[in-house]
Amino acid sequence: MNPEIRGIHHITAIAGDPQRNIDFYAGLLGLRLVKRTVNFDDPGAYHFYYGDETGRPGTILTFFSWPGSPQGRRGTGQVIAAAFAVPEASLDYWAERFKAHKVPFEEPLSRFGENSIAFYDPDGLQLEMTGVSGSGYGIPWREGPVPPEHAVRGLHSATLSEEGYERTAALLAETLGFRLGGQEENRFRYEAGTGGPRAIVDVVCLPAAPPGRIAAGTVHHIAWRTPDDEDQKAWRRRIAGLGYYVSPVLDRQYFRSIYFRETGGVLFEIATDPPGFTADEPSEALGQSLKLPPWLEANRRCIEADLPDIVLPGRESDFGRSSYNSPSK
Ligand code: ZN
Repeated sequence: MNPEIRGIHHITAIAGDPQRNIDFYAGLLGLRLVKRTVNFDDPGAYHFYYGDETGRPGTILTFFSWPGSPQGRRGTGQVIAAAFAVPEASLDYWAERFKAHKVPFEEPLSRFGENSIAFYDPDGLQLEMTGVSGSGYGIPWREGPVPPEHAVRGLHSATLSEEGYERTAALLAETLGFRLGGQEENRFRYEAGTGGPRAIVDVVCLPAAPPGRIAAGTVHHIAWRTPDDEDQKAWRRRIAGLGYYVSPVLDRQYFRSIYFRETGGVLFEIATDPPGFTADEPSEALGQSLKLPPWLEANRRCIEADLPDIVLPGRESDFGRSSYNSPSK
């Protein structure tokens, strides 16, 4: 039996200043910081994971923070936008919130029957709030600064920009098991598993656009969900068998990962659902203190001394240390 991709596991992007990143995602967007750790391949840099209450797969957006990093460029061979799911009646709330905090955002647009507002984080990363109807697509983080009725319900989808879409489309449809859910002009919508929010990826074909450059304000990679280690091994065999260079299985502490680059240039990861973010701290303590994997624990003092101090924003009252001036795009 073929293994199954259940949807998006997480999306990882690059940020500059860590405090500005926390103020925006935990403070302004009201996501929960579910893990405060370092980039395992570069322990001098923070790695933040934001998500719902426990950081369930499909709710997770993560950042490598490299202060002073040059500005990236959005372009082909990249994930050019990450969308969050919010109740459709909450889009006005979000537009008001963006206005009040001087977050650059665009007029709502309709796509595949849903309305979205595009906006930009302080590093220039393009994000979207997509209004979804019905319920059952996620549990909001209730302790954040955003009223639960308007709060983000996890990821909705990701948009891949490709110079030519056919080979990426073939990989998604013929190998990874996505199905074509629709097409609007040059945008092809694919859905995994049961479909809907967290299982949607749009491929946009932009043959004349320049290639992207990955640095601050751009997405580093996108990870797809696999239920367990066995399925992940099956994926590894299958994808390597197609001629892709696939990494060995890497222990990311909160999931295990394999990586490969699709032909259009986007770095794909396949990540296991278990063990999740409560692997090394209880649910109520998530994100409060710096967690390190066992192999870096011996260097904790050195690592901590090198990292900039950060403060987790509380409820609305003490939110807003940073300014949200228009980022350079
Ligand atoms: Zn990842």
